[in-house]
Amino acid sequence: MKQTNISVFVPHIGCPHRCTFCDQRTISGEVKAPAADEVRKTLAEQLPALRARGMTAEVAFFGGSFTGIDRGYMTSLLDTANEFTQSAPDVYTGIRCSTRPDFIDDEVLDILCSRGMTAVELGAQSMNNDVLCLNERGHSAEDVVNAAKLIKQRGLSLGLQMMTGLYSDKPEYCTETAERFIELKADTVRIYPTVILDGTRLGELYKRGEYRTFTFDETVELCAELLTMFGGARIPVIRLGLHASRDVEAKMLGGVYHPALREICESRILYNEMLSEMQKRGDCKRFIVYTDPANISKVVGQKKENKEKLYRNGFEFIIKTEKGTNLRIENAF
Ligand code: SF4
Repeated sequence: MKQTNISVFVPHIGCPHRCTFCDQRTISGEVKAPAADEVRKTLAEQLPALRARGMTAEVAFFGGSFTGIDRGYMTSLLDTANEFTQSAPDVYTGIRCSTRPDFIDDEVLDILCSRGMTAVELGAQSMNNDVLCLNERGHSAEDVVNAAKLIKQRGLSLGLQMMTGLYSDKPEYCTETAERFIELKADTVRIYPTVILDGTRLGELYKRGEYRTFTFDETVELCAELLTMFGGARIPVIRLGLHASRDVEAKMLGGVYHPALREICESRILYNEMLSEMQKRGDCKRFIVYTDPANISKVVGQKKENKEKLYRNGFEFIIKTEKGTNLRIENAF
């Protein structure tokens, strides 16, 4: 059965923080906070279509710091979502939200759990305290650890979100962050390469030439490594890169934003594996690469990038399809 999210964007208007990367309204693409009645209408409208398609859905409160919004408003949204998980459990299977690590404590978790919350995602962004401080996050890596442990203790699914290429960030800080996420036994992860938006502190620094984020290629190499790390730990990466948005495109000054970013990173993983394997094969320079038909475009790479890079390294290959195979290489004579 296919699972989807019915996303409800709840902008954290009046957020007391000023994270360097955040233009909250641009990221969510929404300005108006939805009323409980509007959420009820959306969920009721979606119900027959989801049921007809045999799909299940989680109600996902995203876009801000859900547990930091006005308490009465938060509970009205949760109560509404809970009505549907109670009355239509065959379709609405759970409720998830995203929030800040320092907006999680036992009292908040009591409220969430009593209203059917099933998953909480924390915007950790980095586990490096210097990066957190210089990007004015207003919380520490220790806050992430504490919140993650409280969420796991309640039996909720723990999602952790990280960014790459923030002000003062380094690739090794990002891989250290991934290691910490794995230690914390995250159930899901989202990775967001930094997009520099006009109207943010990062935007000012960027315009003054005091900040550069990782290049596209550095980000692809790094995210390929992060995907490999989380894959090895069997932690699903449920998102890589910001969703396509005209607001983001209009306000973007720099950074990494590409609709096919995940595919490009997965293609880089295959490239790295092919190069490493071919380099081990002595004098052989021509190969047969076996892969599942669904993988062919990733093996070849966007605009044949992998094929051409391997050719420049002295290697040629042809592809043969083999259902269920990720990558298998044989010498061709
Ligand atoms: S990212 Fe930072 S500034 Fe933006 S809503 Fe969240 S806590 Fe507030």
